[in-house]
This record gives sequence, structure tokens and C-alpha cells, in this order.
Amino acid sequence: MSLTFTEMHTPRVGLSIAVQRQLCCEQSEFQRIEIFESEEFGRFLTLDGYMMCTEKDEFIYHEMMVHVPMAVNPSARRVLVIGGGDGGAVRELCRYPSVGHIDLVEIDRRVVELCAQHLPAISSALNDPRVTMHFQDGLRFVRGCENEYDLILVDSTDPFGPGEGLFTREFYGHCFKALNADGIMVNQNESPFYEDDVKAMQRAHQRIAATFPVCRLYQAHIPSYPSGHWMFGFASKGLHPIRNMQTESWNSLHLATRYYNTNLHRASFALPTYVEELMKDVE
Ligand code: SAM
Repeated sequence: MSLTFTEMHTPRVGLSIAVQRQLCCEQSEFQRIEIFESEEFGRFLTLDGYMMCTEKDEFIYHEMMVHVPMAVNPSARRVLVIGGGDGGAVRELCRYPSVGHIDLVEIDRRVVELCAQHLPAISSALNDPRVTMHFQDGLRFVRGCENEYDLILVDSTDPFGPGEGLFTREFYGHCFKALNADGIMVNQNESPFYEDDVKAMQRAHQRIAATFPVCRLYQAHIPSYPSGHWMFGFASKGLHPIRNMQTESWNSLHLATRYYNTNLHRASFALPTYVEELMKDVE
């Protein structure tokens, strides 16, 4: 019997992946956690039936989430990762000798445990001594932070269910307070293609733009995500993602990447006209 995983991106369009086997399926306190094995995408994690990361294309998402801000502030030392229980963002952060402390705030301990068990290539750095894990709501955690972090990565699920609070004005206000003067926040900012994702993208960007003086969208092509066209938000108190980029300093680190490079960094902020149109009345 052939197995197929299907995620509907709209009521009429979906992504189906032929699956060799399901490695785990568990209903945690927060969501249904499943990990599958497939020929095309390798192993992949889904939460409540939504694609989170695949072994084949996670490098794109995690490199773009981490190396864009790190190329603007390569001396970032203290980092807060909210969500990110698969460990991919932490893995990329741990490649920087300058990063001295990472707080990973993941609401669901079982995501971390199951990814450590079944997705070792993605979760490999979760036991790095620089990583401190906090199994709690990211919104609650960040309320208590002030002027503590150089970088905040919001690697959350979508703006419903447990992730809903991570797309609010209140949350972004607390992230602003938690960052120091050169602080940067990057969030996964949904997509400009399908209607529901567009609304989520516009809403998140509007709330971030109302909170941070610098707020720019950038993009990457992620085949396993709805439409493949995925956005990230870059926000800061003053550092500009292109004007303040430390190209030579980042290149001197000689980090081997498969998607990110400093030319693509600049280009990723050049948005298609239709996306500019979508965003023009938002800020
Ligand atoms: N790259 C994925 C994406 O763009 O959808 C996200 C990956 S990561 C697995 C998302 C994580 O956010 C999940 O493990 C989920 O448990 C966590 N999460 C959701 N809501 C949260 C909250 N309020 N506080 C902390 N973590 C949360």
C-alpha cells in the first residue's frame, strides 16, 4: 500500500509527497507531531498536518533566517530563538564562534525530543553547551526581557494555534524591549502568493513596522512551503540589512553554505513588483 502525505495550501491546491514510512505520530499537549520518511524530501516534520521542515530543503530556510542578520551584525553574542524546536536555526547559529549564548524558547518539549530522535542532521546542535532550552510560550518568556539580546529569531509556526501570540503587536513590542541598541529581529513572515498567507504576511509586517524603525521583507525559494515563495522579516532599531551589511567580515568567516551568500543577501530584499504592490499600503 503506497502512503502519501498531503498538505492543502488552499482548498483547491495541495502538496503531496509519496511517503516510505511514518517514523512517529504523537498528539502532544499543543499539537499533532508527525515525522515521515520520503524518497524525494528525505525525512520531514509536520505539526497539525502543516509542513515544518524537510531534510532536503531546510538548509534554505535556516541559512536565510540566520546568516542574513549575522552578516549585518557578525559580533552578535546573545541570541533568543523563539520556536525553532527542530534545531535548524540553532545549528546555523552555533557555527559562529562569536555566539556565546542561545536561549531556545520552544513551547513543546516533545518537538525537541522527537526531532533529536528522528532528525539528527537538523537537531544536531541542540546539545551545544551554549544552548539553554526553555519549554514555554515565547510571548510569556519575552515579557520578562529587557535589553538582553543582540538577535531574536522568531522561528514559529503559523499565526494560529500555539503560534498565534507570536504575531501580535504586544509580542513585537516585547521583542523590541528585549533587544539592545544594535539588536535585530528576524521572523518567518509567511508568503505573498495564496490569499490567506498574503493576509498573514501583511498583518505581521504592519505590526512589526509599527514597532521597529527599520523593517524590511526579504525572500527565499522553499519548495516544500506553500507556493515555494517564502518571506522573512528583518527588523531593527537602526541597523539596515543592506547598508550596514559587513560583507568582508562575514566572508572572512569562511562559513560553507549551500544557499546563502552575500550577493544573494542583497538580492533577497529586491521584491517582485506584485509583492511591492501588496505591501505599499501596509506600512
Ligand atoms: N520553519 C517552520 C515554519 O516556518 O513554519 C517552523 C519550525 S519550528 C518546528 C516551529 C515551532 O514553533 C514548533 O516547534 C512549535 O512548537 C513552536 N511554537 C509555536 N508556538 C509557540 C509559542 N507560542 N512559543 C514557543 N514556541 C512556539
